[in-house]
Amino acid sequence: MGGNEAGLQEIGHYVGGALLQGAQGRRAEVFNPATGEVIAQVRLADAAVVDAAVRAAQSAWPLWAETSALNRARVMFRFKELVERHQEALARAITREHGKVLSDARGEVQRGLEVVEFACSAPQLLKTQFSENVGGGIDNFSLRQSLGVVAGVTPFNFPCMVPMWMFPLALACGNTFVLKPSERDPSVSLMLADLLAQAGLPAGAFNVVQGDKAAVDALLAHPQVQAVSFVGSTPIARQVHAEATRHGKRVQALGGAKNHMVVMPDADLDQAADALVGAAFGSAGERCMAVSVGVLVGGCAEALVERLKPRIAALRIKDGMEADADMGPVVTAAHRARILDYIEQGIAAGARLVADGRRHTVAGRENGFFLGATLFDHASPTMSIYRDEIFGPVLTLLRVPDLAAALELINGHEYGNGAAIFTRDGGAAREFAR
Ligand code: NAD
Repeated sequence: MGGNEAGLQEIGHYVGGALLQGAQGRRAEVFNPATGEVIAQVRLADAAVVDAAVRAAQSAWPLWAETSALNRARVMFRFKELVERHQEALARAITREHGKVLSDARGEVQRGLEVVEFACSAPQLLKTQFSENVGGGIDNFSLRQSLGVVAGVTPFNFPCMVPMWMFPLALACGNTFVLKPSERDPSVSLMLADLLAQAGLPAGAFNVVQGDKAAVDALLAHPQVQAVSFVGSTPIARQVHAEATRHGKRVQALGGAKNHMVVMPDADLDQAADALVGAAFGSAGERCMAVSVGVLVGGCAEALVERLKPRIAALRIKDGMEADADMGPVVTAAHRARILDYIEQGIAAGARLVADGRRHTVAGRENGFFLGATLFDHASPTMSIYRDEIFGPVLTLLRVPDLAAALELINGHEYGNGAAIFTRDGGAAREFAR
């Protein structure tokens, strides 16, 4: 990181063990969502920068791949200790650029650490099988070998955890890595690069290219990139998957979600209301595992809505840096505008607006990208507030007569990939799990 002529912090690329000097070209603004201020500029890599990063990773690969799994795991152990020691600084950097409350940011670092812990077991994980005399004096064995340079493209909503889903295992297995983090909250990627270097990772084994579509396209087309891991929205996941496979790369691409919570008439409604509020409005709904749909079965709807109202009104929505904040702002003004548009669509389509977060302001933070928690009731399956991933603090309730109708609804949703049930009836829970 450095400064530019406007006095703004500049967030650059990390290539071959150092910040890339002299890179020119496009930049984007990075905001503090709680204040609305521009706090930094991030460089946006072009194909030449991506090529430099991939070449650095390619040069570092042979030595790193030959390093014993035990020694690679030792680097991960040291990295784990360093992340633990710097957890607070990482969490603050996340909150500063993403907006989520500090407790969420600390939790994000912790979830990432769990993957580092898993990667520390690489010597065990990399063991393979040997079959003696499978036929005619032939023995058969398998090896787990590194691929070379692998790339990760990650979303804004977990700038620490999602990269840490990828690079600890890739590195522990002997690959070298190029990370393309979200341009909306890019600082954490450089902090992680620094901690990896302190842990003893050789220069070039981990690189960061900041950027947008141009950087991703260059990574997907680069002949030395062997595999790509993507996490982000479904339309981009589809594009990345198609483009990467077209270039003959191994690719995994994880997309968006619209997670449903079914509440049965026999459920503990206080418990269900607490869970719904936490899961819908935690991290301002900017979680792939956020519950954005409540499916209220039979006669529990009115009583549940009455329990949701005071809980929503009690949410402390403020700068995520404040110790007692329950929910912070959303990530950018553009994202806020997109969420507001969905709320207008829900109203126009005839859903009942029970809690209206459109005009929420925070004293002293009037330019922040805040929204209040919004609750729609009586939505229907054709409405955009139900069909689309809004990725903001908007909870949509639908009412159905029975469990069969709830299951049909969830299974008919384009995403339908995450669901929970609140019931005291073991039979209903088992049917749901099937
Ligand atoms: P996004 O799809 O806009 O961006 C993800 C990454 O792709 C970023 O690095 C971005 O710079 C890059 N990108 C954006 N447009 C691109 C394009 N046209 N071509 C190539 N690359 C492009 O997603 P986001 O808004 O940063 O993150 C939120 C999304 O991520 C939500 O949909 C959420 O559900 C999803 N998500 C999914 C999981 C999961 O485990 N499935 C986890 C976290 C987030």
